[in-house]
Amino acid sequence: MPEADPPPNIGENLARVRERIETAIARAGRPAGCVTLVAVSKTHPIEAIRAALAAGQTIFGENRVQEAAAKFPALRTEHPDLRLHLIGGLQTNKAKQACALANRIESLDRPRLADAIAPHLGGCDLLIEINVGDEPQKAGITRAEADDFILSCQSRFGPALAGLMCVPPTGEDPTPHFAWLADRATRHRLGVISMGMSADYETAIRLGATHVRVGSAIFGTR
Ligand SMILES: *Cc1c(COP(=O)(O)O)cnc(C)c1O
Repeated sequence: MPEADPPPNIGENLARVRERIETAIARAGRPAGCVTLVAVSKTHPIEAIRAALAAGQTIFGENRVQEAAAKFPALRTEHPDLRLHLIGGLQTNKAKQACALANRIESLDRPRLADAIAPHLGGCDLLIEINVGDEPQKAGITRAEADDFILSCQSRFGPALAGLMCVPPTGEDPTPHFAWLADRATRHRLGVISMGMSADYETAIRLGATHVRVGSAIFGTR
């Protein structure tokens, strides 16, 4: 039988990622602490999240409502300062549950989802996900439709429309995609720029990310 991978040392991994984030910030000449780490805990058990909480991490990302609903209510009771971001494709029929569960939905990607979220938003805020590579199979509003959608969400949601998010095409240099997203956010005066994952968060920080979403570098492979 193959040996199972040893459990990752989540505390050490977090410390290493935080250090690399601060180094990337300093190299970019940006102010210390200006990038927030979202620890992506999808597919990982509640014990892994508890280990991250014990190491001082309070912001987590999940991509499925069902999974987040199974893991996070109990953790919130233990850690009232915990914040949950939903980062995955969201069905309209889950919008109400998503708003009740999360502090932020990073994957607002179409007008019908905005309609479904609007009556339930509560204290949740929103990022628009942009399909920066215009990939047909991928979630996100297209580049061509981005400006109109941003403007309509700004007038509908006001400051609850906090910023933009993207997942650039795999196997391509993410640089032009990150630069495009940061430029779009600046033009629309949106403060939150969520970009960069385990493989490319330092590049994203150089190009202006305010939030990086890091999973496997903290919790191990999925
Ligand atoms: C899974 C996921 C991440 C984290 O990816 P890693 O490569 O494990 O760091 C970030 N953003 C989104 C939208 C994801 O689905």
